Amino acid sequence: MVAAALSAKNPGIRELAVLLSPAAAPELETLAQRARAITQRHFGRVITLYAPLYLSSRCFSGCVYCGFASNRQTPRHMLTLEQVDAELDALKRRGMEEVLLLTGERNPAAGYEYVCDCVERAASRFSTVLVEVFPMNEDEYRGLATAGCTGITLYQETYDPQTYERMHLWGPKRNYTARLEAPARALAGGLRIAGLGALLGLSDPFFDMLCLYRHASYLLRQFWKGGVALSFPRIRPEAGGFKPPFPVTERLLAQIIFAFRICLPDVPLVLSTRESPHFRDGMAGVGICKMSAGSRTTVGGYGDSATSSECQFDVSDGRDVLAFCAMLREKGLQPVFKNWDAAYRDAI
Ligand code: SF4
Repeated sequence: MVAAALSAKNPGIRELAVLLSPAAAPELETLAQRARAITQRHFGRVITLYAPLYLSSRCFSGCVYCGFASNRQTPRHMLTLEQVDAELDALKRRGMEEVLLLTGERNPAAGYEYVCDCVERAASRFSTVLVEVFPMNEDEYRGLATAGCTGITLYQETYDPQTYERMHLWGPKRNYTARLEAPARALAGGLRIAGLGALLGLSDPFFDMLCLYRHASYLLRQFWKGGVALSFPRIRPEAGGFKPPFPVTERLLAQIIFAFRICLPDVPLVLSTRESPHFRDGMAGVGICKMSAGSRTTVGGYGDSATSSECQFDVSDGRDVLAFCAMLREKGLQPVFKNWDAAYRDAI
């Protein structure tokens, strides 16, 4: 069955299910070799780099796994627009060309206007600006695109509605459907990229990964001009002591990444600094083609705006950008900071 899935001409969800299954686990090395070959064929020997910038830790939602949940006794911070400028300048000095701006759920202080202002400031400095914020309506996404936003990242966390309800106890994020449908609204509103993912550890990973595939496939069919990217965030131990009910091992995470690379050969797969240096080094170019580097997950953190607030999740790979690039070059991979020019934004 695994051999048949690996030799399928156009692998789809059936093949993905086989490659994710325990039957494929002993074939991990074979999957890795196939994933590496496909990655090189479709993306070359390059890894695109980006950096997250946390704008605010103010949030009124109660996600049981998150260090920013509103019941956590932790100082809250939100960058002023002047501090945002300083953080963006500090990131730019590190050589970054792509930034991901993050906040919690929509709230009166860090709402749509604030996000738009931050996007405009980022777009005046960076080639690519993505946001990982809250679900918006189509007009708001259109406004973000006009402000210079390239795309969104919006993880469904889990596709199982019952588990979703148990993991999101209060606040706007409890609305499963509003979140599920937001990536389609973003692409309909003119954004170029919708980044999807499920938070591995919350629910049955096989169910969530098959749903993720269907979500991505639907968007690719409906919005052929836009793009989809997939991430595989995994719950790591964090300050609140949340224990994932479905822990995912590194070995299973690797199998998931390889299976997606084989079944969605054109879709960029992203890996953050949640994972260890050892794991990230092994995944670079073997399925993964885009990675964060030198990340800080406290509000600010790159310049003088660094705060003492709790981070949303712990960074496992603490290497700076230079050290990370040196590792990539040692492996024969080329770090790429820019593969999209801001000039195209005006042409679309
Ligand atoms: S995951 Fe997002 S919405 Fe939920 S508590 Fe954390 S910051 Fe707020």
